[in-house]
Amino acid sequence: MEKITNETKIGILQDHIPLQYKYSAGVAGDRFLQLLKQGKLQASRCAKCNKLYLPPKIFCKDCFSQLNEWKDIAEDSGYVYSFTSVSNGEAGGKDLIVLVKFDGVEGGILGRLKSSREEPRIGIRVRPVFKQKSERIGDLSDIQYFEKVNY
Ligand SMILES: [Zn+2]
Repeated sequence: MEKITNETKIGILQDHIPLQYKYSAGVAGDRFLQLLKQGKLQASRCAKCNKLYLPPKIFCKDCFSQLNEWKDIAEDSGYVYSFTSVSNGEAGGKDLIVLVKFDGVEGGILGRLKSSREEPRIGIRVRPVFKQKSERIGDLSDIQYFEKVNY
C-alpha cells in the first residue's frame, strides 16, 4: 500500500464547490420560529414525563411520546449556562454570545447578551428582549438580546 512519508510531496488541488440548500426547521421548529415572530417563547411538553424541550421537539427523547403540548417559558427563568466573547473583526467591538437555559427545561438557546459594564458570569439570570414586531423575521435573531434580570 502506498504511504506518504513526506508531507511536502502531497499534491494540492484548489477549487470550490457551490452549494445551495434549504433548511427545513421541521414541525416543532417551524412553530417555534413562528412563535418567536410573535414575541413568544414556548417549549414543547411531554405529558407523560412532564419534561419541557426548548428548542421544541415533537418526540420525547426519553419515552418517545409524541409531543403536542406547548407551554410558555416562565419570564425570568433563564440563566446563562455558558458564554463566549466574539470579536467583530475590523469593525471593532465585541459581542457576548450566551447559551441560555431555562429552569426545568431541557436544552437551551443561543443569543447575545446585552452589553454592560459588568463581566458576565455563568448562572446570572437573564430574560429575552425581542426586536420590534415589524423587525422580526421568524428566526433566533428575533430575540435582540438577553438582558440581565436584577433582583
Ligand atoms: Zn416523555
